[in-house]
Formats: sequence, structure tokens, C-alpha cells
Amino acid sequence: MSDKTQELLERYRAVMMPTYAPSTVIASGKGLTVRDADGMMYYDFTSGIGVQSVGYGCKKVVEAIQKQASVFTHCSNLYANVPAIKLAERLVELSGLGGKVFFCNSGAEANEAAIKLARRWGAANGGRYEIVTFRQGFHGRTLATVAATAQAWCQEGYDPLPVGFAYADYNDLDSVKAAIGDKTVAVMLEAVQGEGGVTPATEEFMRGVRQLCDEKNLLMIVDEVQSGIGRTGTWFAWQGYDVKPDLFTCAKALAGGLPMGALVSNAKLADVFTVSAHASTFGGNPVAAATALAVLDTIESEGLLENAVKVGELLREALQGFVDQYDALLEVRGKGLMLGLVCEGEAKELVEAFKGQGLLTLTAGAHVVRFLPPLTLGEDDLEDVVDMISDALGSVYGE
Ligand SMILES: *Cc1c(COP(=O)(O)O)cnc(C)c1O
Repeated sequence: MSDKTQELLERYRAVMMPTYAPSTVIASGKGLTVRDADGMMYYDFTSGIGVQSVGYGCKKVVEAIQKQASVFTHCSNLYANVPAIKLAERLVELSGLGGKVFFCNSGAEANEAAIKLARRWGAANGGRYEIVTFRQGFHGRTLATVAATAQAWCQEGYDPLPVGFAYADYNDLDSVKAAIGDKTVAVMLEAVQGEGGVTPATEEFMRGVRQLCDEKNLLMIVDEVQSGIGRTGTWFAWQGYDVKPDLFTCAKALAGGLPMGALVSNAKLADVFTVSAHASTFGGNPVAAATALAVLDTIESEGLLENAVKVGELLREALQGFVDQYDALLEVRGKGLMLGLVCEGEAKELVEAFKGQGLLTLTAGAHVVRFLPPLTLGEDDLEDVVDMISDALGSVYGE
């Protein structure tokens, strides 16, 4: 690390609350890669944590930002704006749920909106408010979404947490049944648990949750903040199952790197939020909305859903090859280009070794390395990256 980067990180630590511990400073990004302040280039298989799905510096995205920024950047929700109208139309159409959209600025906020909407509906439907969520799930860092996130590391030190959540085990329908009580109004889950270890819901589980919700008049809420916008090979990961949620949320990849979240409903819940029932100053921001439209257009015109399936399968096969080769690697799991490599030792150690080869990856819990490459990943670049992974694993485990 150069003196310049050292100095920047020292300045960072002097004035930024230590919620993060960045190991370098990113100076620029292009396509699948980023460059740090020392000029070192990396393949970014984190996509900025599931955000840069169409790649860094995507031409359509940059043009959309520039164009809308020069028209106007914000006008509040006292007035409508055309990009937000178009984007809501697009999300309703892509969802096929026949409902409506509420825009906000992040994943946590989108889930917060889903929780509030479910409670508002529950208040008018039997005075119910409790939401069943899942151990190893992740829903964000606001107080309510932390309460929804059944993981100790996320909740420690924040008591008293908002009440109204009950926890169940993922992919275990009996535990969902056991968690449902008189006050239950909804079940909220990720279609593929991201932070919790890249674990996809089984077909049987997703269908079972839907059926339980139908039987007991509960809302099914799917958190698509990480898995949505094409990452698993369908627009939303729930579309890979034979179910339809009542509500789902998206954020991370929605607006090509600009902050934006969305709550999407079915027809039944389209008008539960009435005038003034919920709001966000920046929600539906015209620059973010215009950019999100460019992201969705790019995914469609470049066939990135199909690419996520095809290249995802190639990456999965390559990782499976390493699992077969090394006893310390246990399993590959996930969907499309949301993949996890389960290891016996510390995932952190592998993430460090990959970084040493020029590849950025993430952990998902202590024993899973998470791969979230841009959906634009091609076969040639994948070959380069598989070589890097091979060299890194060789250095950690011995040839
Ligand atoms: C990242 C994430 C969130 C939180 O999103 P923020 O934009 O960081 O608030 C919520 N749910 C899931 C599944 C996520 O991966």
C-alpha cells in the first residue's frame, strides 16, 4: 500500500465512525473492474455488494444520470415526475402482480415500508401485527429491520428493539407453522438468503409458505433487495418459483449505483397506504428513477437475465471443480450469479487470498465466500477469474 493510500485511510479513520474497516480506497471503475488509489486493478465480484449489476460506467446509465441531472434533480413528492411514473409502470409490468409501487432510497427503507404496510393492513384485518422472519435472514439496519433480522451480531446493544417479530428456521415449514399465532399478519423472507450464507429457498418451502399464508390470511413478503433485478436469472428471484408474493422489495441493483429502493404490491394491497400514510422526501427521485430505467433497459437489451443463468452455471461448475479438488471446500450453492462457496475454515482467509490475486469477493457469514459479479460477466473474463481463484486456493491449501 502506498503512502498516499495509507494517508487517505488514516484521514478516513480520524473522521468516519468505525462501522466499516475499508482495506483500500477505490478511485475508479470500468466494466467488471475497479482500480484503487494506487492503480491496482481488481475484478469486482462483489459488484459493490450487489449494486453494479450492469457493470461500472455503463454508457446508458451514465447518459441517463447526466441527462436527467441537467433537466432537474429533485422536485419532492408534492409533484409527480415522469421518470418515476415510467419506472413504477415498468416494475408493475415486470412483477406481473397488478399492484402499485412505493419508492424510497434503500433496502432497509423498502423493508420498513413493507413492515408498515403489513401492519396497516393487519390493523384493519383482525388487529394483527406480528411478522414471522427467519434465522440467518437479513433485512437492513433501521431499528425495525434489525428486529426483523434474526441474527445476534445485528441486534446486540440495540435494546429495546421494536416488538412484533417472531423467528422461524429457513427452509423448515414446521417451524413457520409453530411461529404463527393469533397476531401474525405476515411472513417475510428472502428468496435466496444473501448475508446469511447464500442459501436459496427450496421450491417446496416457497410453495409451502405461500399456501400457509393463503390458509391463514397472512401476507407473503419477499425481500428481493439483494436477489432482485436479474441477479438470479429472473427479474425477481421469486419468479424462479411457482409462487406470487403479496409484497416484495428491491433496492441494491435497482438504480445502477444511485440510492433507490422500491416496495411493490399486488392488486389487493395497492391502496393500503393512503394519502400521508407513508412518505419519503427523496423517494422516486427523478435522477435515480431515470437511471433505474436505463438499468432495466440494459438488462433487457443485453440479455443479462439469460447471461446470469448461463455464466452463473459456468462459475458454479468451476467452483464445484474446486470443491471436488479440495477437502476444505464443502459445497457450492446459490442461483444464477448469486453464488456461495462453503468452506470449512474462515471465509475471510479466502476472501483475502482472492484479493491478493486481484479478485474482490465477499463473505456471507463465517464460512461462505459470496460471489456477486456484474451480470455482464462474459466467458473470457470468467476464465481469467477462475485462474485467479485456482492460484489463490493453491496458495491457501497447497497444490
Ligand atoms: C442489503 C440488504 C438489505 C439492506 O439494504 P440497505 O440498502 O443497505 O438498507 C436488506 N435486505 C437484504 C436481503 C439485503 O441484502
